[in-house]
Amino acid sequence: MKKLLISACLLGEACRYDGKSKGLDLSVLEALKNKFILIPICPEVMGGLSTPRLSNERKEDKVIRSDQKDVTRFFHLGAFRALNIALENEVTYALLKEKSPSCGVHQIYDGTFTKTLIPREGIFTELLKKKLDIKIFSELEIEELLKMD
Ligand code: SF4
Repeated sequence: MKKLLISACLLGEACRYDGKSKGLDLSVLEALKNKFILIPICPEVMGGLSTPRLSNERKEDKVIRSDQKDVTRFFHLGAFRALNIALENEVTYALLKEKSPSCGVHQIYDGTFTKTLIPREGIFTELLKKKLDIKIFSELEIEELLKMD
């Protein structure tokens, strides 16, 4: 079976900034498990951030916490650690959580903390794209992912 890198919060792990998860429906999880070996990562936790934590947004080349602290280094560290797991496991696909400053695939918040979305990737997604030639899906594209060979 091919390996699928997956945002841990989509598997039901309570690793999001608000201490919650974003677990997929059980039937969807079952379909993914029947087709792929799942390799979970949470770049933010792997970067040393605690859960729950204040929310964070990408702003230009930095990541800023909602109290305006620069937390970029935690995000870079976590992204590199998650990338290593992707490389070690030779994953074929990735399924990442949309809108996250780490895992966002097509959209993230714009750094103003006003719930404004912009077309941009999370820090981890950007690194993964640069270093690995794999197809990356968001949780809104699972149907397409399940059709892949
Ligand atoms: S960093 Fe990724 S895996 Fe971790 S909580 Fe955020 S979206 Fe989920």
